[in-house]
Amino acid sequence: MISKHFLRAMAGAMALLLMAPMGSASPGVTPIAMVIHGGAGTMKRAKMTPERERAYREKLGQALEAGYRILDKGGSSLDAVEAAIVVMEDSPLFNAGKGAVFTAQGTNEMDASIMDGKTLNGGAVAAVKRIKNPIRAARLVLEKSWHVLLAGKGAETFAKKHGCKLVSKKYFFTERRWKQMQKRKEEERKKGSTNPEDDLGTVGALALDREGNLAAGTSTGGLTYKRFGRIGDSPILGAGNYADNNTCAVSGTGKGEYFIRLAVGHRISALMAYGGRSVKEAAEQVIMKDLVELGGSGGAIALDGKGNIATPFNTAGMYRAYKRADEKAVIKIYKD
Ligand code: ASP
Repeated sequence: MISKHFLRAMAGAMALLLMAPMGSASPGVTPIAMVIHGGAGTMKRAKMTPERERAYREKLGQALEAGYRILDKGGSSLDAVEAAIVVMEDSPLFNAGKGAVFTAQGTNEMDASIMDGKTLNGGAVAAVKRIKNPIRAARLVLEKSWHVLLAGKGAETFAKKHGCKLVSKKYFFTERRWKQMQKRKEEERKKGSTNPEDDLGTVGALALDREGNLAAGTSTGGLTYKRFGRIGDSPILGAGNYADNNTCAVSGTGKGEYFIRLAVGHRISALMAYGGRSVKEAAEQVIMKDLVELGGSGGAIALDGKGNIATPFNTAGMYRAYKRADEKAVIKIYKD
């Protein structure tokens, strides 16, 4: 027979478990996790100076920490994703926000989206030119409208009305991105085609909060020398960005046209939902096999509801970082 004393002791033990300090992965408590990327591409070790590498690692670390801190305090995965992406959008290192690449017309046109894995609700903006932090605008579309995707002027007007900061087009001018565009222009003039593969830096973030909710966000300036009006995969839910609590959260980076055609984000999720694959198996299948077979290149980060992480890429490298409860942050650029 179970004594009253035993039951009381059990209740005490349960209470202790529930009161476990933030950040610990005690049994029964959802392990929080934060994963980010800063773009995949043909980056070469030989071209990377130690200062440059340090700058990327430092910024990735800051972005990861900005998101993780929110999760550690019990904040939501949506808030963590937004915070991490804002840090990268504000840095000229990445192809998002401040460091956005140029179109063939010499303009900057940015895309971003955010998705809530609990409700499958999402918000996105496309081809915006004056929003300082497109991910904030995407979040506002999610929270304050019944739409999912707003483009161009309409998106900017909406964002401004809801308190988003608009900046002049000059804010997005960086010498490095301007030169990259000129180089592509020259290449096209000489060879008739160009390949913007090394102009990487699209950013993405995934989070798993203490409630067990997943969220995903992606923000980009798109591809250097793209036609104006071109919209990539980053603001398309199911392509460059996806989150479903039942499966995983995904953020992709690479040639967006292929990610849209394959519905990369949803494909990874579907392999888990209907194919019984783990997040690692599903992400590897889509990025290393399906995408390659179609002729696409790039990478993705994926996170499931248990905190399992996958970061496959079929390019030379992908800026990426992750941190799980009670584990040290991991920051990587190349395959090793
Ligand atoms: N996927 C982005 C786009 O096609 C670019 C990138 O990830 O580098 O717009």
